[in-house]
Amino acid sequence: MDLRVEKWPIPEPKDGEVQVSIHSTGICGSDLTLYSKGFIGDFVVRQPMILGHESSGIVSKLGKGVTNLKVGDRVALEPGIPCRRCEFCKIGKYNLCTDMVFFSAPPHHGTLTQFTTLPSDFCFKLPDHVSMEEGALLEPLSVAVYACTRAGVTIGKRVLVAGAGPIGLLAMMSAKAYGASEVVITDISQSRLDFAKKMGADHILLVDTKDVREMAGRVKDSLGGRMPEITIECSGAESAMQMAIYATKSGGVVALVGLGAPDATLPIVDAACREVDIRAVFRYCNSYPSALELLSTGRVNVKPLITDRFSIEQTLEAYDAAMGRSGIKVMINCTRQ
Ligand code: NAD
Ligand code: ZN
Repeated sequence: MDLRVEKWPIPEPKDGEVQVSIHSTGICGSDLTLYSKGFIGDFVVRQPMILGHESSGIVSKLGKGVTNLKVGDRVALEPGIPCRRCEFCKIGKYNLCTDMVFFSAPPHHGTLTQFTTLPSDFCFKLPDHVSMEEGALLEPLSVAVYACTRAGVTIGKRVLVAGAGPIGLLAMMSAKAYGASEVVITDISQSRLDFAKKMGADHILLVDTKDVREMAGRVKDSLGGRMPEITIECSGAESAMQMAIYATKSGGVVALVGLGAPDATLPIVDAACREVDIRAVFRYCNSYPSALELLSTGRVNVKPLITDRFSIEQTLEAYDAAMGRSGIKVMINCTRQ
């Protein structure tokens, strides 16, 4: 796709909204899919749009009626604005809103820009000791936190995480923070596993065979002969989803976070006969406050995940670096240098 740095008008906040001067925006895998393919799932780029949705910034203007923030506040941006009226919004599962405006999901503009506007209650005030970059990483951390909540991670659970990309790493770190006694993480990349080990994974397992039952057996071995009660699938690979079911203890939970091919063949009878629940995870819902607590109390340290830094003027280089996938998280500084 044609990616450019261009001048766009500065948006004005409507009633109940704030204008935010963006400080940091991380590049997410979905941004890369939009950049390389021009669509992601049913979302197709049909007109020029701004990418990005992992952002933090400083409140620069208040719309009418905003009382929870003031100009100068440092905030993280929750980038999905639900309608607040549909049945899903009403029951609090606003991530399932049928009328969601999600930043950078076409046709909606994203936040890889110097200014954006959004409802003030989708801004989360950052404590002074939490950096802007950490604030931007609240977005993927919220995915991980919501996955742990959906999967039921609590004290003493053994957890398998499949895939050691940013989401898998954050899921592993969040699971530990939620009290998991041991977390084993898998990947096809040894360097990503080495990184996961540094970030606190108890066990790392290289996926070097197509035999998913064999891999499930290795997961059990790595945990001293005990199967994990919970698996959080964060790779999107069909074989990893299959392995996740075989590896999970009877009565346990497989949380599907990874999004790969639209259809997958899964060992569903094995899941059925062993009561392994398969739970879908879509983005997050009321997860920013918990994710912010994990950051501000130091229970999860996301800083080492940022491996590459660019200015907004260097956005094309930043996307090239992210496409190469040699690092973990590419962060763009959107302030005027
Ligand atoms: P990523 O591509 O950086 O990471 C995926 C990792 O999985 C890579 O390190 C890759 O080497 C590894 N992998 C590939 N095949 C594997 C296999 N068979 N077994 C184990 N690991 C394998 O992506 P990411 O940004 O970390 O996101 C992870 C997944 O989560 C993606 O599929 C993304 O689309 C999805 N996602 C879903 C949601 C949601 O709301 N459900 C939100 C964000 C991301
Ligand atoms: Zn709604």
